[in-house]
Amino acid sequence: MPELPEVEALAAYLRDRAVGRRVQRLEVAAISVLKTYDPPPSAVAGKEIVDAGRHGKFLDVVFEGDLHLVVHLSRAGWLHYRDAFPNSTPLKPAGKGPIAVRVRLDDGSGFDLTEAGTQKRLAAYLVTDPALVPGVAKLGPDALAADEETFAARIRGRRGQLKGVLTDQEVLAGIGNAYSDEILHAAHLSPFAITNRLSDAQMATLHEAVRTVLTDAVRRSVGQKAAELKGEKRSGMKVHARTGLPCPVCGDTVREVSFADSSLQYCPTCQTGGKPLADRRLSRLVR
Ligand SMILES: [Zn+2]
Repeated sequence: MPELPEVEALAAYLRDRAVGRRVQRLEVAAISVLKTYDPPPSAVAGKEIVDAGRHGKFLDVVFEGDLHLVVHLSRAGWLHYRDAFPNSTPLKPAGKGPIAVRVRLDDGSGFDLTEAGTQKRLAAYLVTDPALVPGVAKLGPDALAADEETFAARIRGRRGQLKGVLTDQEVLAGIGNAYSDEILHAAHLSPFAITNRLSDAQMATLHEAVRTVLTDAVRRSVGQKAAELKGEKRSGMKVHARTGLPCPVCGDTVREVSFADSSLQYCPTCQTGGKPLADRRLSRLVR
């Protein structure tokens, strides 16, 4: 799932390639992906792309006349930039393929929003103001923009396990499953630490870890082509998706805790005083 650094890189790529170009046509193949009907997709035809940015993990493509195509890529969604399309035939609505939305530009290039797999969670909104998108309106401050005081207040304000609170987009925008594992590893904190019991020193370390991990990831990602971003994301990881491999910091074995539809990874020596966390799925089986 793309998080703040990957969405920032996609926006940077669009600023480089698409800004200044005019839209020839916005085609919608998967009706369920486009969550809005007014303005209609035809409203962007002939309009120039004037900017691209993000709100947390939402990508925002801005057209002249205050029109925004806001996209949440969710788990399996992605943006593919095409230098050219194989033909000019519009996408068929209710097409079976992975392409959900296609934006054709006046130089023959453009981009597709795609979603792999059967879980259809990719969401696109064509709106006159990004705040009209419910998920955007509820976002907390951007994870990279929050100063230490704001950060501490947001985290302490939501009592719970640190992993869950860090990835709650209403607390802070932009951090998901992968970078929260990396941030907690960098901060030497357990994913199950309780937010309002963190000391001031731990909170300062956590804030610094958020900035360092995300800034490094943005630096590695921006300038990469969309197609190369996923590999780039994985290559920078120290614990996320590295179960059973040695921690690059201390050499201990990276461990995992599994949940119904996700998992987290951590290093016991770096994060939990050497003590493995209970894997609830496993302990239920043993009992
Ligand atoms: Zn370690």
